[in-house]
Amino acid sequence: MKPELLMTPGPVNVPVRTSLAEARPMRHHRGADFAEWLQTIDGKLKQIFKTKNTILYFAASGTGAMEACVVNLLKQNDRPIVIEGGKFGQRWGAICQAFRVNYRALEIEWGTAPSPALIEQALRAQPASKIIFTTLFETSTATAYDIENIAKVAQSYDAILVVDAISGLGAVPLRTDAWGIDVVVAASQKALMAPPGLAFVSISERAWKLVEQSDLPKFYWDFKAAKKELFLTPYTPAISLLQALDESLNIILEEGVDAVLCRYELYAKAVREAVAAMGLKVFSQSPGAVCTAIELPPPLKAKDVLKAMSQEFGIRIAEGQDHLKDKIIRITHIGDLSPKDILSALAALEITLSKLGAQIELGAGVKRAMELLSSQVGMFAS
Ligand code: PMP
Repeated sequence: MKPELLMTPGPVNVPVRTSLAEARPMRHHRGADFAEWLQTIDGKLKQIFKTKNTILYFAASGTGAMEACVVNLLKQNDRPIVIEGGKFGQRWGAICQAFRVNYRALEIEWGTAPSPALIEQALRAQPASKIIFTTLFETSTATAYDIENIAKVAQSYDAILVVDAISGLGAVPLRTDAWGIDVVVAASQKALMAPPGLAFVSISERAWKLVEQSDLPKFYWDFKAAKKELFLTPYTPAISLLQALDESLNIILEEGVDAVLCRYELYAKAVREAVAAMGLKVFSQSPGAVCTAIELPPPLKAKDVLKAMSQEFGIRIAEGQDHLKDKIIRITHIGDLSPKDILSALAALEITLSKLGAQIELGAGVKRAMELLSSQVGMFAS
């Protein structure tokens, strides 16, 4: 099968160097050599998290690490605040529900970001709620949240902030220590450009105090066990995935963490402005660098656009989720992508939409994206 160009919000296109590293011979994990190696990976990952806090490693997808946060940070009678502005905010609520934790959902309209003032209001109204679960980039609606200012509000109420940065880490700005974020969850298959299967949690000293008091059931996910054998890992780690991650981290650090963020933001801007030039609308009121959600003009259906993009052009994009399933498409701009990929995806989209009956002036979006991307060509020299 010819590989597709992945412009989906995870897994993303993985660099060839990373795939080759994943295929290196197996190694053993019980011994000082493994611990030393994982420690070097940790040093690299901390530069992306921008933290000195402990990072724990799990063989899991991102949701596993989200569940780990719930069962390690909460007591049965806690009343956490969960910000629900999309599928992944709701996931925090669903996990709380699975453990019979009575959470308070702060529902916001899909496609909007929660204002820090709204969170302040919730904390004032519910002084017993001392922990907030939220999202850095709500992938289901392609919406970036203002975590820096949400963190300021959380600190002023002495509340612990837990951020799902599964899609956002390495794609949009996040300064774990400088912004005072207690817990950050991430996964391997998004901007870290590795295959799926690794999840990470960074934990502040303040949050470790909650871990000490937590009374929810856990075994595999136990943060204390993971910390005790930090670089040896209590159970068998996903060694090949760590090999892949190590190489992807090298690639990111060679370019520079902030340079990568700038490049993704430029891709996102090119896609947004191309969409406007095509006469279409970006769905989110707070768009960002992970992916862009585009409203489809009726009667177009997302599944038809996806099918044509995949079958005719070998480019995989995503549809919406839940009530947005048919109404939006999502184009991702993270992973191993070049300006060539962005331009060809936009050209393929214009042809697809026009063949499906939309009034699109062929080339209008691509032209705008070319202007934006070519003005920056120097930054792509390697
Ligand atoms: N949170 C966000 C923001 C995500 O984008 C995703 C994956 N799309 C998840 C959580 C769930 O992660 P996983 O599929 O790795 O369990």
